[in-house]
Amino acid sequence: MNIILLGAPGSGKGTQAEMLSKTYGIPHVSTGDILREEVMKGTPLGEKVKTYMNRGELVPDELVIEILKNRLQEPDCKKGFILDGFPRTLKQAKALDVILSEVGLKIDAVVYIDVADEEIIRRLSLRRTCKSCGRVYNLYYNPPKHDEKCDVCGGKLFIRDDDRPEVVEKRLKVFNEETRPLIEYYEGKKLLIRVNGMNPIDKVFQQIVEKLGLERK
Ligand code: AMP
Repeated sequence: MNIILLGAPGSGKGTQAEMLSKTYGIPHVSTGDILREEVMKGTPLGEKVKTYMNRGELVPDELVIEILKNRLQEPDCKKGFILDGFPRTLKQAKALDVILSEVGLKIDAVVYIDVADEEIIRRLSLRRTCKSCGRVYNLYYNPPKHDEKCDVCGGKLFIRDDDRPEVVEKRLKVFNEETRPLIEYYEGKKLLIRVNGMNPIDKVFQQIVEKLGLERK
């Protein structure tokens, strides 16, 4: 099963991708996570993309397409994958079609998680990320058991630079201008599944599973 999760920042793509990944045993591929790791490690690629990310802008297509192509060639993607945060532009979507057709694969479904802009702003202001393991919390919807600390590894929780209010506004603008057209693109390919992302996490997951027509393992 090869799935794309589409949605604004903070719509729950990462959370749902993790749940799908665990349930179906296929990797969660997040370009945002890959890029953040490069930034954290201070690699030349990380240095290159840091400024775009901190400003809430998209990293140039060529760079992310290359990263994604390499990641999809790793053995764990052979049994399927869940893409979170890619594609984000029409150019990336078309590049993905080419990458997959070259290896005889295709996308089975594109899940669009629909969440209103006001809710996105509210969610991102309450989002906290673990500095050590990258796990994501929301102080209201899924708070950590202990303030400021990760339940899983005890790492310190922090606010992502790009979750600051002024950057969130920019990221939403970028989503509406650059990524929203992909809804129509995948609707045209009869791949789009819409779910109401305003619902609680478990309900959204249930909707996705039902609409994908998947059997639980
Ligand atoms: P995310 O964690 O998916 O919200 O991504 C965080 C940031 O990484 C974005 O705001 C972009 O700067 C960058 N990024 C992640 N995925 C992509 C992509 N497919 N194309 C361009 N930039 C991306």
